[in-house]
Amino acid sequence: MVSSGSKSRRRLAALTHIVREVDSAPDLESALRVLVRRTREVMGADVCTIYFADQAKRRLVIAATDGLSSRVVGNVQFGFGKGLIGRVAESRRPMNLDRVPPDLDQGFVLQAGAGPYQGFLGVPVTHKARVQGVLLVRQRQARRFDDADEAFLTTLAAQLGGAIAYAKASGECQLCRPEESLPRQIDGLAGAPGLAIGHAVVVFGASEINSVPDRTVEDTQAEEARLRAAVQVVRAEMAALGTDLEGTLSEADRALFDAYVLLLDSPEILETAASLVRHGKWAPGAVNRTIETYATRFDAMEDPYLRERAVDIRALGGRIVARLLGESGTPTTRQEATILVGKRLSAIDIGQARTGHLVGIISGDGSPLSHAAILARGLGIPAVMGVSDLPLAQLDGQELVVDGTAGRVHLRLNTAMRQAFETTIENQRTLTEALEPVRRLDAVTADGVKVALFVNAGLSTDLELATAAGSAGIGLFRSELPFMLFDRFPSELEQLNLYRQALEAMAPLPVTLRTLDAGGDKNLPYLADADPNPALGWRGIRFLLDHPEIFLTQLRAALRADLGLGNLRLLLPMISGLDELEQALELLEQAIHQLVDEGFPVSRPPVGVMIEVPAAVYQAQALARLADFLSVGTNDLGQYLLATDRNNPRVSTRLDPAHPALLQALQQVVDSAHKAGKLVTVCGEMAGDPGMGLLLLGMGFDGLSMSPAALPRVKWAVRGATSARTRSLAKEALLCERPDAIRRLLDAARVDIGLERLVSGSGSDMPDVHANGSPAAVA
Ligand code: PEP
Ligand code: MG
Repeated sequence: MVSSGSKSRRRLAALTHIVREVDSAPDLESALRVLVRRTREVMGADVCTIYFADQAKRRLVIAATDGLSSRVVGNVQFGFGKGLIGRVAESRRPMNLDRVPPDLDQGFVLQAGAGPYQGFLGVPVTHKARVQGVLLVRQRQARRFDDADEAFLTTLAAQLGGAIAYAKASGECQLCRPEESLPRQIDGLAGAPGLAIGHAVVVFGASEINSVPDRTVEDTQAEEARLRAAVQVVRAEMAALGTDLEGTLSEADRALFDAYVLLLDSPEILETAASLVRHGKWAPGAVNRTIETYATRFDAMEDPYLRERAVDIRALGGRIVARLLGESGTPTTRQEATILVGKRLSAIDIGQARTGHLVGIISGDGSPLSHAAILARGLGIPAVMGVSDLPLAQLDGQELVVDGTAGRVHLRLNTAMRQAFETTIENQRTLTEALEPVRRLDAVTADGVKVALFVNAGLSTDLELATAAGSAGIGLFRSELPFMLFDRFPSELEQLNLYRQALEAMAPLPVTLRTLDAGGDKNLPYLADADPNPALGWRGIRFLLDHPEIFLTQLRAALRADLGLGNLRLLLPMISGLDELEQALELLEQAIHQLVDEGFPVSRPPVGVMIEVPAAVYQAQALARLADFLSVGTNDLGQYLLATDRNNPRVSTRLDPAHPALLQALQQVVDSAHKAGKLVTVCGEMAGDPGMGLLLLGMGFDGLSMSPAALPRVKWAVRGATSARTRSLAKEALLCERPDAIRRLLDAARVDIGLERLVSGSGSDMPDVHANGSPAAVA
């Protein structure tokens, strides 16, 4: 029977309340107590119980109950498939019985010393398709729980799965034998490329500042002086960190630490905390209160970039509190390869832990666009972000592998795994050295066809790598990255300097400057308008066309930077139709006229269109007619085509570059561009995979743009393949209907030209590239 509207509404309100209460409970035990008590009340049941599953032992144990004696917690248990509870877990379906058959529940009655109960409704609690527990209600009398009851309990259970999985993995749950539940591999997001093995140092602290107790002080004057001194020390530390990173990070990239200094100088923090101290609060409590109030405003923001600011603010607060409590607050890196791990690592944590021993970074929160990830890339340290199931409590001191390219953490290493990873790391290192000569060689196929291989860049640190990589220029300069390091839009002059630096560093090779691609997952801290659905919202060219003053400033800065050099190319992000392109081109003309009128003899650079919105795939020919070139952003095109958020670790592994739909779309873009007589390149991540790179070239792409680290490998692959081989690879791949089949073709191609050794580094027989910079060519 379908429930009445008012009952559903009451239930929905109750559900929201329960979830909120559970979320704000201080620890797991209290959260579970709240859960069972409130659920029992709302459902008018005699008992509500939650069991936790111990996957290793395939059993379920009572974790909390309301209505039974507390003695049953941890003591009543069932094997999977055994009794009512075990059946719910095994079938992974709700079970709703108005009268429980006595033999099915005998085990429970005996173990719990309670019952019998007649009415029963139990639902499985799952996370990532694994059963984490069972949530149930019981009634002494016969009772048929209705559809609304079932829907309510199921919805509640769906919200619990992740939290239970985390509690089990983190060791918070005593019932679940954490070591055994610790997985061997956890997926996150690729934050900074590379592979590293080392021992974890877990940073606790900044996020724990809200556990500082509330105290009062008598001598408020002395306390205020203590507060001011602590803030000054942290301020000096931040300034010193910026200076320390000189030579490692460019000035623009170090601007982040200047922003921290500014934050500490702002009255918003120091003066608010000082005023609380003058009212009698002790300084750590005052800092905590001030920071929390300030950070919570950012927490509540929809926009992921602005939420990131809360991490920075708490990290700074944590440092001040640590100072006040007499701790240095600096995480101790080990005297061996160290992997810094934290629930919310900030750029400060990384900056301070940076020694020769810091080899990897893992953060529970954050995305590739967090300050922490940007800094890690700048420092060349592999990082995995957004590892939501991070079992922090168990990781300290453990040996881990960070795969920052795949966005994956490996743990519980056994000897064989350790050896395999060590071999891979060593082979990759040797390979990088072995590929050194390739940097200086041309990117030509074995049959002599020249291929344009570019690099993607953004931070000034990338420029050095770009020049060293032996590229044909910068195929994608992500201009929003430097924008992210400012706390306001950079001025025309500031931008001019940034772009000039890039253009000069690469001249005479081209620099393809993508105009600001703000919005979506790349929001700027000073753009407070959070979109309800950012990926589909006000981003890229849409934002620029709505803000011609910002667009014009950027165009003017870029055109002026190009004066006397002539190696600038412009690239327009997120174009979905001709109108947008025409409007952007008009603004470019306007910027050129303005500058010429002002006496700057600027000239019009080639203008390209990014093909990353599915609509643009179908309009590629018309767009190509108006533009000078096309560049396909496969990261976004894949995300939109496969409806898979590229920054959501729950689904990001489904964003498969070998998806046939993506390959078909790419072929259509190549054909359209060529029909219009224009060149077309790929600048998404897939261009940096040697096998995929060959496939794309075989489709007809005129160039590939990738990370500097990927370039020598792709170049090596290109030099080892004939153009006929790349074409046959593409032809066969385009006939495939499944990603697996495409991957098999790629694997075969890798074997053909010795690429599998190149990628997996499985042995000591490294490709012999010293002789002529080419693997043995395969026709
Ligand atoms: C893309 O979308 O593929 C791309 C290259 O741009 P970005 O990753 O910066 O969105
Ligand atoms: Mg994009």
